Amino acid sequence: MKKIYYFDNNATTRVHDEVKKEMEPFFTKLYGNPSSMHFFGGQVQKYVDESRKKISLLLGCLPEEIIFTSCGTESDSTAIYSALKVNPDKKHIITSAVEHPAVINLCKHLETQGYSVTYLNVNEDGMIDINDLKSAIRPDTAVVSIMWANNETGVIFPVEEIADICHEKGVLFHTDAVQAAGKIDIDLSKNKIDMLSISGHKLHSPKGIGVLFVRKGVKFAPFLLGGHQERGRRAGTENVPYIVGLGKASEIALANMQKENDYVRKLREKLERGLVEKIPNTRINGLKSPRLPNTLSISFGFVEGESIIMLLSEKGICASTGSACSSGSLEPSHVLMAMKIPFTHAQGTVRFSLSIYNTEEEVDYILKVMPDVIKRLREISAFNDETPQFENAKDIHH
Ligand code: PLP
Repeated sequence: MKKIYYFDNNATTRVHDEVKKEMEPFFTKLYGNPSSMHFFGGQVQKYVDESRKKISLLLGCLPEEIIFTSCGTESDSTAIYSALKVNPDKKHIITSAVEHPAVINLCKHLETQGYSVTYLNVNEDGMIDINDLKSAIRPDTAVVSIMWANNETGVIFPVEEIADICHEKGVLFHTDAVQAAGKIDIDLSKNKIDMLSISGHKLHSPKGIGVLFVRKGVKFAPFLLGGHQERGRRAGTENVPYIVGLGKASEIALANMQKENDYVRKLREKLERGLVEKIPNTRINGLKSPRLPNTLSISFGFVEGESIIMLLSEKGICASTGSACSSGSLEPSHVLMAMKIPFTHAQGTVRFSLSIYNTEEEVDYILKVMPDVIKRLREISAFNDETPQFENAKDIHH
């Protein structure tokens, strides 16, 4: 079988072996419904509760503040719809221009339903301006939803400071922490975030399980109505194997975060430095902002990201042009456009996102293959040394 060089961990991650093992009994042995009255179902509830506890330790919150959902998208929708339902007189939402489609497309839809939305701009390093947020908050603002870390650039937003501002103004604050959970410290006991979303498949558990944290005391209206599961906050029979899997993955993430981050950051830095040294006319996106340790968004001038991905794919390398959800379109992503990256470079953007399963040999392989790939594509696109240069790579200092 062809060797796979998997550098697309912000799209999804490999399930840890221990996570898979922990889940297995819940398919064929412990398959009862936790809501059943009989012993066979009842015994399963205890594993759901244990998992809730493990996830609460990763997030620094109370177990009862955790609601299981089917994915990050559902958590985001639930949080925003809840904020609007509990504030029926408030019709204004604030978000950023670089959110994941799970938030941005929901906001666009809500604009057609009588809500007004402020999309906060970012600077060329992908960072929002806190003063813009302060002046955007209005008496009729129902909710502010700003992601913790951006899926394309890895840029980390100051969500704890944003939570303080919202709290002072009496506005609910939700953060999409899908890319942050398991990669950076989250301690909800130390901040005023009201609601937070995570998704299992970004931290080495399966696709199709998510969590919404809702702080105790925050008014909440459920999104799915039906049975009494999750104390009436999310109807639908619990996905027990996946809940157990996410609990295990959270436990592993918490125990190893520092060590794994150091490892992954070193690989990312080697890749980043190597690419800018070997290939002229590159731009590292979000370079001057705090970034997730595993994410590298790099633009190669005068080539097309899709063509790069195809050539890399032929060599077994899996990366992404930006958000996997928006691939299939040749338009630069809304994130790169919001950062005002010139079209000539935005188009040639590749996102490498690493995990602990990557190795230094794999990074060396990319560094060997990539210069030739870009050279070939630039020859086709008639790029030459006269073409205006646009690079910030010389600013790299690590
Ligand atoms: N939010 C962010 C920042 C993401 O990166 C993703 C997935 O890529 C989502 C939300 C959606 O999560 P899910 O795929 O679990 O619905």
